[in-house]
Amino acid sequence: MLLDELESGKVFYFFSEISKIPHGSGNTEALARYCVNFADERGFKSYRDEYGNIMIFKDGTSGYKHSESVILQGHLDMVCEKSQGCNKDMEQEGIDIIIDGEYMHADGTTLGGDDGIAIAYILALLDDDSIEHPPIEALFTTDEEIGLRGANELDASRLSGRKLINIDSEEEGVITASCAGAIRISCKLPLIYENAEDGMCAVKITAGGFIGGHSGIDIGKERKNAAKILAEFLYEVDRHIRIAIAGFVSGERLNVIPSSAESVICIKRENIRQFDVILAKFNAWLKEACAGTEPNALVTAADTRVPERYISEADSRKMIMALINVPNGILAMNQDIPFMVQTSSNLGSVSVKDGQLNLGFMIRSNTNYGKTETVRQLRCLIEGMGGEMAEEDDYPAWEYKHTSALRDVMVKTYEEMYGKEPLICTIHAGLECGILAEKLDGADMVSIGPNMKNVHTPDEKLEIKSVQRCWQYLLQVLKNLK
Ligand SMILES: [Zn+2]
Repeated sequence: MLLDELESGKVFYFFSEISKIPHGSGNTEALARYCVNFADERGFKSYRDEYGNIMIFKDGTSGYKHSESVILQGHLDMVCEKSQGCNKDMEQEGIDIIIDGEYMHADGTTLGGDDGIAIAYILALLDDDSIEHPPIEALFTTDEEIGLRGANELDASRLSGRKLINIDSEEEGVITASCAGAIRISCKLPLIYENAEDGMCAVKITAGGFIGGHSGIDIGKERKNAAKILAEFLYEVDRHIRIAIAGFVSGERLNVIPSSAESVICIKRENIRQFDVILAKFNAWLKEACAGTEPNALVTAADTRVPERYISEADSRKMIMALINVPNGILAMNQDIPFMVQTSSNLGSVSVKDGQLNLGFMIRSNTNYGKTETVRQLRCLIEGMGGEMAEEDDYPAWEYKHTSALRDVMVKTYEEMYGKEPLICTIHAGLECGILAEKLDGADMVSIGPNMKNVHTPDEKLEIKSVQRCWQYLLQVLKNLK
C-alpha cells in the first residue's frame, strides 16, 4: 500500500507491515521480533525485557545532541474482534486493510489502529534520517489491552527521558493530560435465610431498558445503574410492606454499567394490591426523573414460584441498605478541567449466592487520593455491616500537572500549525501513563493520537488525513523540543 509518502513519510508503509503480523494481546512475539530486527538493521541500540516490552534508542540529530531525551510510547498488542461470518484466524493471519474514502478499516476484523498507528509513527520516525529530533527513546509496551500488563512489569531503569508522548489517544486536536487510576473491589455480606411461610407469594421484579455503557467513559453521562434503581424500588416497597428477598442478580463485568437487574421477592398475598400501587408510583417517578438520560427505563413485575427459603426480613433490609448506600456513579468532578469526571464508582455486579450478597465494583479516579478515599468509604460501610471486602488490580492515576513544559510545547506547536488552541482534557479511563508516571518519577507526559472510531470492534476506522496531520504535528513538536 502506498499512501502519499509526501504527507506522512513511511507511516502507512510500516502500518501495513505491522498489519501483516498477527499481534493480538498475548501474541506479540512476532511483532516484537520485527521491531528488534528493525533496530538491529539500522544499528540502533535496543532492548527487550522478559515481559516483551521493547525499547529502541536513537541519538538526537545535529543541533539536538544534548537536548533532553523524549520517550515516544505506544503498545504492541491489539484487541482481536471479528464480525459474524469472518473466518480469519487472528492468531495466525494478518489483517486485510481496506481503504474506503477518508477512512481505513479492516476486512471483517478490528484494524489495530489502536495502537498499531503508534508503532508505525515511531518506526517511520526512527527510519528517516532527514527528521530533526532530540534523542528518542521508543517504548513499545505489550499486553496493554489485558490489564496494562506490559507497563506494569516494565523495568524502566534503562529509560533516562522524563518527557513522554503516549500515542494511544483517539482524537486529533485533543491533548490528554491525565488519566484515571482504577481498582476492582469485591464485597461479601453474609445473609441469614429462613423457610418460607404460608400465605406468601413471589414476584420477579425486573429493572430493564437502561442504556448501560463503559464505567469510565460513560459514567459522566448520568446513566443510571439498573441494580441501584432496583434496590431503590425494593426500598420503597420495604417501607410500606414486609418483604423477603429470595434473589438478586445484575451485571457481569465490573467495567460495564449494568443495564438490567432482576430480583425475586416474597410478600404476603394480601399486600399484592399495595405492591402494585407502589410499582406504578415508582415507575411514574422513574419516567420523570430519568426522562433525559434513560427514556426506556422501566421496572416490571411478574408472578413466580415461591421458593422454599428466602432471606430473613432483617437481612433483606440489610441487603437493601447496602445496595442503596454503596458509592456509585460520579463522586467528584475535576476542578482543573471543566466537565471531566474526577472520581467514580461503578457497582458492576450483584449476586446472591451461597448465603451471601456479592458486590463487585470498579472505582476510578484521576487522583490517587480520590480512589483511596472511595475505597475507604466502601470498606467502612461493608465492614460495619459485618461483611468483607477484597481489592484487586489496583493501578495508579496519571494526575493532572498544573505546570507541564511538554504540554506547553505541544499547545504552542498546535497553535502555530493550525491557528487555534488544542483541547486539553483528562480521561476518566485507564492509559498506561498512570503506571509510567509512577515508574518515571512523575515524568512530564501527554497523550495524543489521530482520529479513530469504534476501536475494539470490527467497525474500527482510522482517518487517513488525520494520521497525516498528526504525523506532521509530531514532527514539528519534536523539532520544537530542543
Ligand atoms: Zn490502546
